[in-house]
Amino acid sequence: MTQTDNAKGIAILGSTGSIGVQTLEVIALAPERFRVEVLTAQRNADLLIAQALLVQPNAVVITDEAFYSKVKEALAHTDTKVFTGAKALEDVVTFSGVDTVLTALVGFAGLYPTLAAIKAGKTIALANKETLVVGGSLVTDLARQHGVAIYPVDSEHSALFQCLVGEWHNPVEKMILTASGGPFRGKKRADLKDITKAQALKHPNWSMGAKITIDSATLMNKGLEVIEAHWLFGLPAEAIEVVVHPQSIIHSMVQFTDGSIKAQLGLPDMKLPILYALAYPERVPTPWPRADFAQIAQLTFEKPDTETFTCLALAYQALEKGGNMPCILNAANEIAVELFLQDSIGFLQIADCVESALQAAPFIAKPQLDDLLQTDTWVRNYVRNL
Ligand code: NAD
Ligand code: MG
Repeated sequence: MTQTDNAKGIAILGSTGSIGVQTLEVIALAPERFRVEVLTAQRNADLLIAQALLVQPNAVVITDEAFYSKVKEALAHTDTKVFTGAKALEDVVTFSGVDTVLTALVGFAGLYPTLAAIKAGKTIALANKETLVVGGSLVTDLARQHGVAIYPVDSEHSALFQCLVGEWHNPVEKMILTASGGPFRGKKRADLKDITKAQALKHPNWSMGAKITIDSATLMNKGLEVIEAHWLFGLPAEAIEVVVHPQSIIHSMVQFTDGSIKAQLGLPDMKLPILYALAYPERVPTPWPRADFAQIAQLTFEKPDTETFTCLALAYQALEKGGNMPCILNAANEIAVELFLQDSIGFLQIADCVESALQAAPFIAKPQLDDLLQTDTWVRNYVRNL
């Protein structure tokens, strides 16, 4: 790889995951523009080592301390520094060679390193939507204070952002998030009672990490995305609509006050929104397949079934109530998905756990960082003991 000094230094939090691996593919396309500064993983030491040997970052973090010595030894002959522990994520994002932090770890764990990166003035490419769901108000306030841009990696939000380019002064009437509908589109509650993990892990259009794949099957993912859109673009819940679009070609739409609607289209491939977030405001040529409309033949739309997929309705309720409700929603969902993946609860019980936690957890209208951590811990225990 040839690299130049004016290449952007990128820290990839969660480099061994689905988004992380695709980010490295994107970076390899344009080594003159991007340089990998930091890679991090939770437990996948083998892949982290292989990635580090290939791209030779300044630093890596393996957060699970059990794997530290393995990574340390494997990289001992290189210049790459090796750290461990969750706290280390908050340090490495502030290193001077880092320009952009791409957050591709899963869940609440993304909040602290994102806040640390913003405080250090680093640009954020945000894939970890849970960060905005949990701490949207804190994160966006801090970003404004520090003049830091948050570019969305989530395909829907990248689409919305792309539709808004050149329209910054024009009022938006509504945003329309598209949803594939997941593997169980058209099914009713009775059909979903005995769904297995393997069935839920088979997404029709996207290949992703396990947690977001389950979230897509319950439509919680779309609920989290409604909340994410609220914080990124400042629209109230009632101005953010979800439409099911099974082909996943239209990635989302913005409707302006004159009634005009802009959409962003493309094949479902996360590399595109990743590249856009890293290269904005430029577009970088890519060799990937293009959409062939004659072959796609039709684009269809339907209303989401929120009576079957109640997680979507619960997310709207949490956003409307505000305060720590989205944090409660997220923590309950993280644990419920974990329990489902361990075969400890059934598919429909994921929504039951979330609903129950939303009713039981203490409400805080203006949560500070400590309140969010307390809420998260409280809800995790609550759902585990249900
Ligand atoms: P994944 O499970 O494939 O990868 C997660 C990565 O984060 C891994 O490198 C893992 O080691 C690390 N990680 C996980 N938990 C961690 C923790 N507690 N502490 C430190 N590191 C941790 O996940 P993914 O599918 O790549 O998704 C990453 C994020 O991007 C999620 O927030 C997801 O909602 C979002 N996202 C993913 C996609 C997609 O196509 N996969 C699309 C849009 C948004
Ligand atoms: Mg998405």
